[in-house]
Amino acid sequence: MIKHLLKSLLTRRVPGQLVIQMTDHCNAQCPQCGMRVTAPFSRTTLAVDEIKRIIDAAAARGVQAISFTGGEPFLFLDALVELLRHAGAAGVAFTRTGTNGFLFQGADKPSFLGRISRIAERLAATPLRNLWISMDSAEPGVHERMRGFGGVVRGIERALPVFHDHGIYPSVNLGLNRNMGGALTRRLLAQPHAEDPERLHQVFCDAVRRFYRSVIDLGFTLVNTCYPMSIDVQQVQAGLSAVYGATATGDIVRFSQLEKAQLYRALMNTIPQFRSKIRIFSPLCAVYALHREHANDGEAGYPCRGGRDFFYIDAKDGHTYPCGYRGNEDLGRFWKPAPSPEAVITDCRRCDWECFRDPSELFGPLDQALSHPCELGLKLLQHPRFFNLWRQDLRYYAACDFFDGRKAPRTAALSRFS
Ligand code: SF4
Ligand code: SF4
Repeated sequence: MIKHLLKSLLTRRVPGQLVIQMTDHCNAQCPQCGMRVTAPFSRTTLAVDEIKRIIDAAAARGVQAISFTGGEPFLFLDALVELLRHAGAAGVAFTRTGTNGFLFQGADKPSFLGRISRIAERLAATPLRNLWISMDSAEPGVHERMRGFGGVVRGIERALPVFHDHGIYPSVNLGLNRNMGGALTRRLLAQPHAEDPERLHQVFCDAVRRFYRSVIDLGFTLVNTCYPMSIDVQQVQAGLSAVYGATATGDIVRFSQLEKAQLYRALMNTIPQFRSKIRIFSPLCAVYALHREHANDGEAGYPCRGGRDFFYIDAKDGHTYPCGYRGNEDLGRFWKPAPSPEAVITDCRRCDWECFRDPSELFGPLDQALSHPCELGLKLLQHPRFFNLWRQDLRYYAACDFFDGRKAPRTAALSRFS
């Protein structure tokens, strides 16, 4: 990671990122997602050769991080393995992919461990850096009902040591939703007094704590948080149009602005309590910036890099978009020339998509130091808390080996954050 940061300094560019939706086929029933198995739309999977061409163009443009998403990428494991290898050979340093967990059903069958071991072995032979496994709730039953995969949490618990033995440390991915702390969270949020900001904050703190405790008990060593993947009327009026099918309108992932402000505040207050126990990717500086935006407290952080050096490829047409939410801006084939700098929007903060917002905040100060150092000095004076959290994040990231999912946690380094 240090090598890549130095390269950024020398080339005066932050590392680019590409999210490739290789398929919109999915076998899960998640109520929070437009791609659930019961959603009636015509499904597409991009051809392997087409994705390889995109990867080659990305590598030539200096993209250093590629995420293969879905739908459910593990429905196409052979293609996924081939693409991970291809990205590594093309020089892309950071590759990640994930699963909704369907693989982990049938934990009590005699063949279970052998089957998981074969999958882990295949992935371990690729340069895959991070593997995520989605989980929606601290309560196994709630998660399994949301996904439609009975018994899957027990399967994850049995599978994790197998992955660890193969040198793969999966990250649990929590998409923030009203069930995250269990059914109780949803009930509490539905109560009339839930409009009270302090009450909301408490409910969210309890929910996040319950979630972190549950995944530590399952054996996870890494955790990430996806911020609510819904857009409201104001965001649509501001020009957003979801192209990524994971964006949803269901109540389960819709939060009012007041709720979002308290949700991000709860994350800010809860993450530090768990940083020594599990490697938590969510940067405090980004969560702080989002809290301020939703609390109408002004902008503290940095605009999103979506459409500048971060892009999204959609499965339905293989076209490039600035991100999963700017579906009105079809940029065509990725291997065609990049948009001219004048045509690029450089100050977007219109949604909370974690995949783009978190790294944008982390790289923001570095980018500004390279491009506008005097403005950075001014910003430091205006937003000392943001920079204080950013420095804490960097120290923590170093202790976490920059979330290298191929490395075991370093307990002694993490203990400094207790
Ligand atoms: S959230 Fe993921 S697993 Fe669930 S339906 Fe959507 S694509 Fe499938
Ligand atoms: S903030 Fe980023 S992810 Fe969200 S709409 Fe803007 S460019 Fe897209």
